[in-house]
Amino acid sequence: MSRDPLLALAATVRGFLPVDEGRALTAHGRRRGREHPGGTWLEIGAWCGRSTVFLGAAARASGSVLFSLDHHHGSEEQQAGWEHYEPDLVDPSDGRINTLPTWQRTVARAGLEDVVVGLVGPSALVAAHLHEPLDLLFIDGGHAADVAWADYRNWTPRIVPGGRLLIHDVFPDPADGGRPPYEIYRAALADGFTEVDAVGSLRVLRRS
Ligand code: MG
Repeated sequence: MSRDPLLALAATVRGFLPVDEGRALTAHGRRRGREHPGGTWLEIGAWCGRSTVFLGAAARASGSVLFSLDHHHGSEEQQAGWEHYEPDLVDPSDGRINTLPTWQRTVARAGLEDVVVGLVGPSALVAAHLHEPLDLLFIDGGHAADVAWADYRNWTPRIVPGGRLLIHDVFPDPADGGRPPYEIYRAALADGFTEVDAVGSLRVLRRS
């Protein structure tokens, strides 16, 4: 159990991020926040807000703002018939997954409404119109190749020198999970990012 009430709360939010990886998000966010307070951070893929709180805790500590981007209708593997389908998150009015109300309640409960700003919509569309340099980018969106590569190509060029790139669901062994997050992680290394940490399937990289 964490002594920080915000991290203890984060661990209770429904979601797929293991607690040790969540705590690594907080630790690396805090580190980057100390180097450069008041930065602009972005997470892609929020689901019900578990990672949002782990990152938001660090954003609060450094006076940074965390933009949390998600269309909130779940990715491929969260649709009916797939592994991570959660029927109680379906909106009966249209039969689609809708994690936005749960995400909003999570952020409110964590007291992070003045630190976290939700962006609801397709990642590529937001990227085409939002051009702020990023101090920290967490890619945890869809795992389909086109989606993961679009997130990488659209957003990583915005990371400032010294900024951090965090990628979730990186599995070197194909038996453990899908390829695209691993492929974009390899691309980041080839593009000059330096790996600074690995916890579970989370990779933390730094732009030189
Ligand atoms: Mg993930």
